[in-house]
Amino acid sequence: MELYNPSQLKKVIESFGFSFSKSLGQNFLIDKNVLDSIVSASGVSKDSCALEIGPGAGVLTRELAKASKSVVAVEIDKSLMPLLDHTLSEFDNVKVVNEDVLKVDLEKLIEENFGDNDVHVVANLPYYITTPIIMKFLEESVKIKSLTVMVQKEVADRMAALPGGKDYGALSLAVQFYTVPKIVVKAEPHCFMPQPKVASVVIRLSVTDEPTVNVKNKKQMFAIIKSAFGQRRKTLLNALSKSPYINIEKEKLLSALSELGFDPNIRGEKLSLSDFAKLSDYLEEEI
Ligand code: SAM
Repeated sequence: MELYNPSQLKKVIESFGFSFSKSLGQNFLIDKNVLDSIVSASGVSKDSCALEIGPGAGVLTRELAKASKSVVAVEIDKSLMPLLDHTLSEFDNVKVVNEDVLKVDLEKLIEENFGDNDVHVVANLPYYITTPIIMKFLEESVKIKSLTVMVQKEVADRMAALPGGKDYGALSLAVQFYTVPKIVVKAEPHCFMPQPKVASVVIRLSVTDEPTVNVKNKKQMFAIIKSAFGQRRKTLLNALSKSPYINIEKEKLLSALSELGFDPNIRGEKLSLSDFAKLSDYLEEEI
């Protein structure tokens, strides 16, 4: 079965009377090059496992099953269960879980299904839940090696952005605190059935063993980051002193900036992750 072949996929979908749900972001991959790029970027091997989120008809799941030790695929749509039974029937290393990934205890699921094996997460999801899911994995420090996800091009650019540019912001810093991002491949609308309106990009986030910078109070640093980018047009000093997320006097902020050698008129977008860590550590001592 070559499920990525549009006529084969169409035949299976019709034979199960399945109809695509727009609200669940159901656009299934039909491009072999993109599929191969995802599987190879994901890092799965016969010694490691894949956690797939949103298997759809199982196009990507089949390729992951061939390349890895085992696959668990979490799919919210009950109507896809009989179809997945059929498309995955030749594999004995795949388990499908009919759940909403946002409600799943990810740590438990990984421990129960994969034990001590290395786990790589692979997801092609509706855009509106992709970022919350990525952050759920990272913030809960779930034991995974990487996340390879299909996202809207603009989101990939924001995740991989470096200081100074228009794409750089709180998402770049959150992703880069826990991972090293790398853009893998672009997927044009014709790579999907049905075709979405916008182009997508696959990005691989390699999870680092330790956060990429040392900071005493992670929560405070992210409150500072959120404040700095909540009002991008303001100087860092004004954005932080008027922020609802932190409560630090303007004078203290001003002396922190000067002690750390930053221009008092600097904007948040000029600061690197380690600059934010330094600022947070300095303010922690001040409070
Ligand atoms: N991976 C398949 C592919 O590449 O062909 C399907 C991708 S499709 C873009 C997204 C899939 O995610 C759909 O099958 C949809 O039902 C599923 N999905 C959407 N929201 C979900 C959620 N909260 N939890 C689990 N699966 C979800």
